[in-house]
Amino acid sequence: MALEAPAREIGKRRLFRFVDWAFGPDPDRDEVHLVYCDGEDEAGNPCGADSGEHGDRETAEMWAFEHAAEQPDHRSYGHLAYRPMITVPNEEPT
Ligand SMILES: [Zn+2]
Repeated sequence: MALEAPAREIGKRRLFRFVDWAFGPDPDRDEVHLVYCDGEDEAGNPCGADSGEHGDRETAEMWAFEHAAEQPDHRSYGHLAYRPMITVPNEEPT
């Protein structure tokens, strides 16, 4: 049974195209990792030392061992990471 056309227009219609998207790492850009010291000196001043930016996590984390060898009381660290990401449609919208 076919639907009957409405007796009057009930709003505008638009055709929307729904596309599936994926989200993941961008293979064309590099990650950046930086480890920094959260330790303080005896007066409570923050250490502020850091590993510098590295393209791999392991190198940045190794810096913490080197720093701890020089400053055995500095045992708190932070790790900042930049991971470039992209969204990719399964099918390009037209
Ligand atoms: Zn430190």
